[in-house]
Amino acid sequence: RDFMAEVTVSALPEGRGALIVIEDSSGVEQAEQLRRDFVANVSHELRTPLTAMMGFIETLRGPARDDAAARDKFLSIMETEAGRMNRLVLDLLSLSRVESEERRRPAESLDLAVIVRSVAATLAPQSQSKGVRIEVANADSPVIAAGDPDQLTQVFHNLVENAVKYGGSGGVVTLRLGQIDHEPTLRGPANFVSVEDRGEGIDEMHLPRLTERFYRIDKHRSRQQGGTGLGLAIVKHIVSRHRGKLRIESERGRGSTFTVILPAVAARG
Ligand code: ADP
Repeated sequence: RDFMAEVTVSALPEGRGALIVIEDSSGVEQAEQLRRDFVANVSHELRTPLTAMMGFIETLRGPARDDAAARDKFLSIMETEAGRMNRLVLDLLSLSRVESEERRRPAESLDLAVIVRSVAATLAPQSQSKGVRIEVANADSPVIAAGDPDQLTQVFHNLVENAVKYGGSGGVVTLRLGQIDHEPTLRGPANFVSVEDRGEGIDEMHLPRLTERFYRIDKHRSRQQGGTGLGLAIVKHIVSRHRGKLRIESERGRGSTFTVILPAVAARG
């Protein structure tokens, strides 16, 4: 990384020279830049639907005042835009909540199989309407983990929703879960849940940046699908709060697999 110096020069008394203190402020500077980018992104993302809504309000007051068909059409567009703003605000709140709790590791005992089955059931109607089938490969026996059930539900919900939205052309999304005796990245036993789609896949160059806030491969497509650009950032923070790992594998033309790996609960006794 770039070295950024903060230099302070103080003269020592009685002409005995000077004291020069050089501090590396690149970390602070980088954090500050990230914060500024984030605020600029949020403002832009909120402003886009807001500007559209203001335009429609003006039209409804003026030219479209007595046109019932136009009024209905504009009101429904405004509803879509308001929905977009609402999702963005909800995602921002989730993100800030997870970030502020990041140091405290959640420890409620839960069954990942139950969570995975419930996410699959919740998203089934939505995915069916897009011609995508959600398949749960092996969630019959319990997989006990420690964590926050609501947050882990959100993780799998976001991943499955993405798989349907962006990988749905493959027609099927497969959820798998299981145990790993020794996961090197966690230096011990772990549980995993993977979400696999057979869609068009992701170019390798995008993979390292995918979990950044507001990073989208195709902004227009994400907007069309109702995305906020925060889904994977939320996933990353929740997984990291659980001291776990998110692994993303993808191949162009073959599909993507997002795997959440969580440290196994130590056996008691
Ligand atoms: P969004 O709200 O745009 O869906 P996310 O943070 O959830 O935001 O995802 C970021 C981007 O990653 C998406 O806009 C999309 O381009 C890409 N992406 C996520 N999941 C997949 C997937 N399963 N297949 C292909 N691309 C994906």
